[in-house]
Amino acid sequence: MASNIEGKVIVITGASSGMGEATARHLASRGAKVVLGARRADRLEALVSEIRDAGGEAHAKAIDVTRAQDLEALVNVAIEAHGRIDVLINNAGVMPLSPIEKLKIDEWDTMIDVNIKGVLYGIAAALPHMKAQKSGHIINTSSVAGHLIFPASAVYSGTKHAVIAISEGFRQEVKDYNIRTTILSPGAVKTELLDHISDKDVQAANQEYVGQVGIPADSYARMAAFVIEQPEDVDVNEIIFRPTAQQ
Ligand code: NDP
Repeated sequence: MASNIEGKVIVITGASSGMGEATARHLASRGAKVVLGARRADRLEALVSEIRDAGGEAHAKAIDVTRAQDLEALVNVAIEAHGRIDVLINNAGVMPLSPIEKLKIDEWDTMIDVNIKGVLYGIAAALPHMKAQKSGHIINTSSVAGHLIFPASAVYSGTKHAVIAISEGFRQEVKDYNIRTTILSPGAVKTELLDHISDKDVQAANQEYVGQVGIPADSYARMAAFVIEQPEDVDVNEIIFRPTAQQ
């Protein structure tokens, strides 16, 4: 039986590192036509070359998810190359954790812009095409922090709670267009996410914890593949996964 991944056109944001990169590699190896977005063009180009050298299909575009027009441009790469978009994985995100009393207002703004508005702009870019096709699948990356609040995580958790609310509302609104909606909520995964925490105490504590219990980025890739490969009338609404050793 043909896989429900093979031949699908899958757009992934945050594909230049971590879970997005691992997912691009995994889905391409299973026959998906991947279209990759992030800001670091050099990393995207290297990944596109690697996938093509392995016999896969990949395109990429440098985008900033805080700009709605960039998401439109990314989706248009998929439309121009393949005439459709089957799956959008809104995965780009940032996590500059700090206690609210440190008043790192610029970092609050960045988290809200990337983690919330970036997801909404992705939806805005993909939805008209998915409605016209009468099929599609939006996968949004939330987090265990979308369910729980940890020290110094108030704003980040707020953005990931918002992703869950937006995803569930969206699911209810678009199901009649045959559009599936999935939330993937990872726990501690070893990626570059902690590199940008400016509060050095918070960064050190998180690096120590994730260094001890964190799981590899391809854990996310396998979850993404699982939800995509379900039959089209089956919508996996959310998967929460975390290291076995995580609290
Ligand atoms: P990485 O830092 O490795 O990846 C983050 C990705 O987001 C990068 O590709 C980065 O690319 C991209 N990105 C960041 N800002 C922007 C922007 N403004 N425009 C476009 N792309 C952007 O971390 P992860 O792989 O861990 O993160 C992926 C997602 O998983 C995030 O949403 C994160 O919140 C979530 N998550 C991570 C967990 C973990 O433990 N690692 C746990 C739970 C959720 P570039 O810099 O090139 O733009």
